[in-house]
Amino acid sequence: MIALSLAEIAEVVGGQTHDIPDPSVQVTGPVVLDSREAGPGSLFAAFVGERVDGHDYAARVVGAGAAAVLASRPVGVPAIVVDDVQAALGALARHVVARLGTTLVALTGSAGKTSTKDLIAQVLRRKAPTVFTPGSLNNEIGLPLTALTATEETKFLVLEMGARGIGHIRYLTGLTPPKVGLVLNVGSAHIGEFGGREQIAQAKGELVESLPPAEEGGAAILNADDPLVRAMASRTKAKVILFGESDEADVSAENVRLTDSGQPSFRLHTPSGASDVTMRLYGEHHVSNALAAAAVAHELGMSADEIATALSEAGSLSRWRMEVTERPDGVTVVNDAYNANPESMKAALRALAAMGKGRRTWAVLGKMAELGDEALAEHDAVGRLAVRLNVSKLVAVGGREAAWLQLGAYNEGSWGEESVHVSDAQAAVDLLRSQLRPGDVVLVKASRSVGLESVAQALLETG
Ligand code: ATP
Ligand code: MG
Repeated sequence: MIALSLAEIAEVVGGQTHDIPDPSVQVTGPVVLDSREAGPGSLFAAFVGERVDGHDYAARVVGAGAAAVLASRPVGVPAIVVDDVQAALGALARHVVARLGTTLVALTGSAGKTSTKDLIAQVLRRKAPTVFTPGSLNNEIGLPLTALTATEETKFLVLEMGARGIGHIRYLTGLTPPKVGLVLNVGSAHIGEFGGREQIAQAKGELVESLPPAEEGGAAILNADDPLVRAMASRTKAKVILFGESDEADVSAENVRLTDSGQPSFRLHTPSGASDVTMRLYGEHHVSNALAAAAVAHELGMSADEIATALSEAGSLSRWRMEVTERPDGVTVVNDAYNANPESMKAALRALAAMGKGRRTWAVLGKMAELGDEALAEHDAVGRLAVRLNVSKLVAVGGREAAWLQLGAYNEGSWGEESVHVSDAQAAVDLLRSQLRPGDVVLVKASRSVGLESVAQALLETG
């Protein structure tokens, strides 16, 4: 973070200083929410949660060296008191990014934000110092906290933006106005809360509405293959750059295939040239993510060769996403239990099929949440695809949706023995422990709420 005095912070956030003997004391960062992370020079933001009230930790954090507390009431130690701590954090982030000459890149979408953000960061940081959202901290608190970690050296700030409703992205772009805005896809994530895909597109498109016009360097990076994203071109004054398989795309992939280990390989085309990519990540859904990252990097001045090298070397920075581990006995466990949606389920199954050539493959799958009216059809389709890809065994875990997965498989191929429906993760573990043989490949995947990572972990512990 850049150093700011307590007086300056109080002015920026419109707060009152309390118990501050010397307002010229500098906050050098970080800004923290967790009292255990407070150290010399930090600023502790006190939130009132359901179970804990951050204000109760004020004395402790100041004792640990924190310069002050950003609080909603006086706490008896140095504090900047505001009406709304969240709004104050946002105002502080806005002030800091306005002072820095950093180029802001923001991205949103229904699926793949974190994966793509991690790719963008791994490409851009080859060119210049880059700060990016850690994990999935993409909301009205995580975003300002990330922006506040930028310093004078930071050339690129890459921010994941999540939306659970109309106006959310507009709020976030108001805090940290991006120059480059990327929309990945409009899928069915949170469709229940939004009310429909059109509403999701409405909300995500707020990102491109916020961009500066092309003359001022604004660039909207849009998925040419997703009609609802493609249509956002009419909602922006920024220059539009399309990525995807469509003929219209400015950044595209040719000769896409999966290697025998399930890793995508393709020839990357950008307006400034072409170059070959073989990814370290698993699953063809990363091709789209890689093209999105390439389009961003191209816009920010990188060559096709530089981008292709970076994409080929990029790893996963986040847990439980197609995490491939080989057990000593030769069983391969693919932990993709972080989350699931129809697109990523299908991509993961295809990767499993590619990795499992000549081996026995297991798909241990649980429900895909929040699909509304489409839930039955989508689970049925995944079950059917497992059969079509010759997955050896399907283990459907959980309640009603798991039954739909199994039924889809059964209806596609009269799969009797090859598909099993078990009630919970423990039952799946018991079954797998008794039946896995050396050389088998096991994919574990479901929506976050199912918590299927416990199955992958148990399999690795017994390995
Ligand atoms: P969240 O809303 O939880 O922050 P996210 O948009 O950041 O999610 P990721 O964490 O990158 O998304 O990926 C979530 C899941 O979506 C992963 O399990 C992954 O398999 C899948 N996924 C990643 N990229 C894509 C894509 N382009 N299309 C469909 N699914 C994808
Ligand atoms: Mg995320």
